[in-house]
Amino acid sequence: MLTLAAAGALWFRHGKFGIWGVILGGLAGCMTLPAIMCLLALVWMLFVTGYPRLPACRNGCCVGKTGYELKRFGDGFAWKCNCGDYYERRGRDFVFLNEEGTGAVVRTWRPLRGWFPRYGQ
Ligand SMILES: [Zn+2]
Repeated sequence: MLTLAAAGALWFRHGKFGIWGVILGGLAGCMTLPAIMCLLALVWMLFVTGYPRLPACRNGCCVGKTGYELKRFGDGFAWKCNCGDYYERRGRDFVFLNEEGTGAVVRTWRPLRGWFPRYGQ
């Protein structure tokens, strides 16, 4: 980060921008890293985690952070939707959990294309 800022400052110093060039260059250098991180996070989300991370439930009424609550389920945790069903994420799949804890894939995230229904739809 500091290296980037210094590189930005140096690069601008060679131009005809004077002290403002150094300041702006330093700022630009500082902004580069967060911008790259944001871009990487966006790419990761579009390809792997999906958006919203928790898609609509089986009934199609609960979605995202407001539709689900993290609750104890068996030995671990699962997402409970407002209808009272339990779900979990397995890779790109969104899985409905029945009482025995065996799951059925409800939706699958397809990179750049969205959530696609798989079961009971
Ligand atoms: Zn629901």
